[in-house]
Amino acid sequence: MPIYEFTCRKCGETFEELVLGGRLTGIKCPKCQSEEVEKIMSACAFKSGTKFVSASGSSACSGCAGGTCSTCGR
Ligand SMILES: [Zn+2]
Repeated sequence: MPIYEFTCRKCGETFEELVLGGRLTGIKCPKCQSEEVEKIMSACAFKSGTKFVSASGSSACSGCAGGTCSTCGR
């Protein structure tokens, strides 16, 4: 499933969006509706893949600093 993590440059909200067909345009922040969102290159996205998983060496990815991350399940 092509789920990407995004962060909003305006309010700092982090959210996940299902991106079909590689379309990264028109994605809005669910909080402030801003389109100034940035895709997070999260190592978690490759969790079922390979060595990318623990690339940072920390116990959590950059996207789940808050404690809950459905992407990586930590
Ligand atoms: Zn926002």
